[in-house]
Amino acid sequence: MNKYKKKYQRIVDDLIKKSFPELKEKKVKIVEFPKFFVFWSFAQKGFGRYYIFINKKRRNANVKSLKAQLAHELCHIVLDHMDKTVFGDLYHNFRKFLSIGFNTKFSRRIETKVDKEVIRRGYARELYSSDLDWEKTFSERIVKGLYARGYLSPEQIESYAKKIGKW
Ligand SMILES: [Zn+2]
Repeated sequence: MNKYKKKYQRIVDDLIKKSFPELKEKKVKIVEFPKFFVFWSFAQKGFGRYYIFINKKRRNANVKSLKAQLAHELCHIVLDHMDKTVFGDLYHNFRKFLSIGFNTKFSRRIETKVDKEVIRRGYARELYSSDLDWEKTFSERIVKGLYARGYLSPEQIESYAKKIGKW
Protein backbone atom coordinates (compact mmCIF):
# COMPACT_ATOMS: atom_id res chain seq x y z
CA MET A 1 0.00 0.00 0.00
CA ASN A 2 1.46 3.38 -0.97
CA LYS A 3 1.62 6.22 1.54
CA TYR A 4 -1.42 7.99 0.08
CA LYS A 5 -3.61 4.94 0.36
CA LYS A 6 -2.35 4.52 3.90
CA LYS A 7 -3.32 8.10 4.66
CA TYR A 8 -6.82 7.62 3.22
CA GLN A 9 -7.26 4.31 5.01
CA ARG A 10 -6.30 5.92 8.31
CA ILE A 11 -8.86 8.69 7.82
CA VAL A 12 -11.57 6.17 6.86
CA ASP A 13 -10.83 3.90 9.83
CA ASP A 14 -10.92 6.89 12.13
CA LEU A 15 -14.23 8.15 10.71
CA ILE A 16 -15.77 4.70 11.12
CA LYS A 17 -14.55 4.41 14.69
CA LYS A 18 -15.92 7.81 15.67
CA SER A 19 -19.04 8.25 13.60
CA PHE A 20 -20.09 5.19 11.61
CA PRO A 21 -20.70 2.43 14.17
CA GLU A 22 -22.74 0.42 11.65
CA LEU A 23 -19.63 0.01 9.49
CA LYS A 24 -17.38 -1.26 12.29
CA GLU A 25 -17.59 -4.89 11.25
CA LYS A 26 -17.37 -4.14 7.52
CA LYS A 27 -14.29 -3.89 5.42
CA VAL A 28 -13.92 -0.60 3.59
CA LYS A 29 -10.96 -0.59 1.21
CA ILE A 30 -9.35 2.27 -0.66
CA VAL A 31 -8.57 2.02 -4.38
CA GLU A 32 -6.90 4.79 -6.36
CA PHE A 33 -7.74 5.60 -9.96
CA PRO A 34 -5.95 7.75 -12.58
CA LYS A 35 -6.10 11.52 -12.80
CA PHE A 36 -7.72 11.72 -16.21
CA PHE A 37 -11.15 10.91 -14.78
CA VAL A 38 -13.04 14.08 -13.98
CA PHE A 39 -14.72 12.86 -10.80
CA TRP A 40 -12.93 12.68 -7.46
CA SER A 41 -14.37 9.61 -5.78
CA PHE A 42 -17.20 7.13 -5.48
CA ALA A 43 -18.15 4.15 -3.32
CA GLN A 44 -18.90 0.65 -4.55
CA LYS A 45 -19.69 -2.77 -3.17
CA GLY A 46 -18.19 -6.04 -4.39
CA PHE A 47 -17.12 -9.46 -3.08
CA GLY A 48 -18.61 -8.74 0.32
CA ARG A 49 -16.60 -5.58 0.84
CA TYR A 50 -17.02 -1.89 0.31
CA TYR A 51 -14.62 0.09 -1.78
CA ILE A 52 -13.97 3.78 -1.95
CA PHE A 53 -12.36 4.74 -5.23
CA ILE A 54 -10.37 7.94 -5.10
CA ASN A 55 -8.72 9.99 -7.82
CA LYS A 56 -4.92 10.41 -7.71
CA LYS A 57 -5.55 14.15 -8.06
CA ARG A 58 -6.48 14.11 -4.38
CA ARG A 59 -3.11 12.91 -3.12
CA ASN A 60 -2.05 16.32 -1.88
CA ALA A 61 -5.43 17.60 -0.77
CA ASN A 62 -5.58 18.87 2.79
CA VAL A 63 -6.71 16.45 5.47
CA LYS A 64 -9.82 18.43 6.39
CA SER A 65 -11.27 18.29 2.93
CA LEU A 66 -10.22 14.65 2.48
CA LYS A 67 -12.10 13.90 5.67
CA ALA A 68 -15.22 15.56 4.24
CA GLN A 69 -14.83 13.69 0.96
CA LEU A 70 -14.36 10.30 2.61
CA ALA A 71 -17.19 10.94 5.09
CA HIS A 72 -19.36 11.74 2.07
CA GLU A 73 -18.48 8.36 0.50
CA LEU A 74 -19.13 6.53 3.79
CA CYS A 75 -22.55 8.20 3.89
CA HIS A 76 -23.24 6.85 0.41
CA ILE A 77 -22.44 3.39 1.76
CA VAL A 78 -24.63 3.89 4.81
CA LEU A 79 -27.59 5.38 2.96
CA ASP A 80 -27.53 3.45 -0.28
CA HIS A 81 -28.74 0.12 1.13
CA MET A 82 -25.88 -1.69 -0.54
CA ASP A 83 -26.51 -4.90 1.40
CA LYS A 84 -29.41 -6.02 -0.77
CA THR A 85 -29.61 -8.98 -3.12
CA VAL A 86 -27.45 -9.44 -6.20
CA PHE A 87 -30.23 -7.96 -8.26
CA GLY A 88 -30.46 -5.06 -5.86
CA ASP A 89 -26.74 -4.52 -6.33
CA LEU A 90 -26.98 -4.49 -10.08
CA TYR A 91 -29.87 -2.11 -9.94
CA HIS A 92 -28.03 0.06 -7.50
CA ASN A 93 -24.88 0.03 -9.60
CA PHE A 94 -26.83 0.99 -12.65
CA ARG A 95 -28.36 3.97 -10.90
CA LYS A 96 -24.97 4.80 -9.49
CA PHE A 97 -23.49 4.71 -12.96
CA LEU A 98 -26.21 7.08 -14.10
CA SER A 99 -25.51 9.35 -11.20
CA ILE A 100 -21.80 9.49 -12.04
CA GLY A 101 -22.34 10.03 -15.74
CA PHE A 102 -25.27 12.38 -15.70
CA ASN A 103 -26.85 15.09 -13.71
CA THR A 104 -30.25 13.56 -13.00
CA LYS A 105 -32.99 14.44 -10.56
CA PHE A 106 -32.16 11.16 -8.81
CA SER A 107 -28.44 11.93 -8.49
CA ARG A 108 -29.15 15.46 -7.24
CA ARG A 109 -31.48 14.14 -4.55
CA ILE A 110 -28.90 11.54 -3.49
CA GLU A 111 -26.01 14.02 -3.22
CA THR A 112 -28.09 16.42 -1.12
CA LYS A 113 -29.22 13.60 1.14
CA VAL A 114 -25.65 12.37 1.53
CA ASP A 115 -24.24 15.82 2.34
CA LYS A 116 -26.94 16.29 4.99
CA GLU A 117 -25.97 12.94 6.49
CA VAL A 118 -22.32 14.08 6.59
CA ILE A 119 -23.50 17.08 8.65
CA ARG A 120 -25.68 14.91 10.94
CA ARG A 121 -22.60 12.76 11.62
CA GLY A 122 -20.73 15.85 12.82
CA TYR A 123 -18.61 16.96 9.84
CA ALA A 124 -20.20 20.27 8.86
CA ARG A 125 -16.96 22.22 9.27
CA GLU A 126 -15.00 19.77 7.15
CA LEU A 127 -17.65 19.85 4.45
CA TYR A 128 -17.68 23.61 4.55
CA SER A 129 -13.92 23.86 4.17
CA SER A 130 -13.93 21.38 1.29
CA ASP A 131 -16.44 23.64 -0.49
CA LEU A 132 -14.03 26.52 0.00
CA ASP A 133 -11.33 24.34 -1.58
CA TRP A 134 -13.57 23.81 -4.60
CA GLU A 135 -14.03 27.53 -4.87
CA LYS A 136 -10.25 28.01 -4.83
CA THR A 137 -9.61 25.17 -7.29
CA PHE A 138 -12.32 25.57 -9.93
CA SER A 139 -13.86 28.36 -11.96
CA GLU A 140 -17.07 29.93 -10.73
CA ARG A 141 -18.98 28.19 -13.51
CA ILE A 142 -17.79 24.72 -12.47
CA VAL A 143 -18.50 25.37 -8.80
CA LYS A 144 -22.01 26.53 -9.65
CA GLY A 145 -22.43 23.35 -11.67
CA LEU A 146 -21.39 21.24 -8.66
CA TYR A 147 -23.93 22.94 -6.40
CA ALA A 148 -26.54 22.46 -9.09
CA ARG A 149 -25.75 18.73 -8.93
CA GLY A 150 -27.07 18.57 -5.40
CA TYR A 151 -23.92 19.14 -3.32
CA LEU A 152 -24.64 21.66 -0.58
CA SER A 153 -23.13 25.14 -0.91
CA PRO A 154 -21.28 26.69 2.06
CA GLU A 155 -24.36 28.76 2.94
CA GLN A 156 -26.59 25.67 2.84
CA ILE A 157 -24.13 23.69 4.96
CA GLU A 158 -24.00 26.39 7.60
CA SER A 159 -27.75 26.92 7.74
CA TYR A 160 -28.60 23.20 7.84
CA ALA A 161 -25.92 22.52 10.47
CA LYS A 162 -27.20 25.36 12.64
CA LYS A 163 -30.76 24.16 12.26
CA ILE A 164 -29.91 20.71 13.62
CA GLY A 165 -27.36 21.91 16.18
CA LYS A 166 -24.25 20.53 14.42
CA TRP A 167 -22.38 23.70 13.55
ZN1 LIG B 1 -21.69 11.63 -3.68
